[in-house]
Amino acid sequence: MSIAASMLESVQAESARHNAHVLAVGVKIGELSGVDSESLRFCFEALVRDTDLAPLALEIERLPWRNRCRRCAWDFAVENYRTECPQCGSADTVRVPSNAESFLWRGAWRVAASRGLIGGAA
Ligand SMILES: [Zn+2]
Repeated sequence: MSIAASMLESVQAESARHNAHVLAVGVKIGELSGVDSESLRFCFEALVRDTDLAPLALEIERLPWRNRCRRCAWDFAVENYRTECPQCGSADTVRVPSNAESFLWRGAWRVAASRGLIGGAA
């Protein structure tokens, strides 16, 4: 919940700075970051609903965890914790340094020119 809350704070700041309505925000979630994208989305949507930030889309990009095979040097994305080499079947694989452990803010974008333009119904 706290991640979603701090994301909304950033959006509010961005929105105020440009005096505009932010339509979408994006994050990158590493496979090994411990952040569950589904529950993050759930919290985010629940928080947004009661604010004037709605409608606000959350775009999630996943950063895969990659391993490299020590036998055939194949570099592959690990899915469902299956670390065997998909190329030769060897279990002798090692993790490739990556940002799979990180949670990154991609920023807010698609800022409408002014709140009035898309606030239509008011
Ligand atoms: Zn292999």
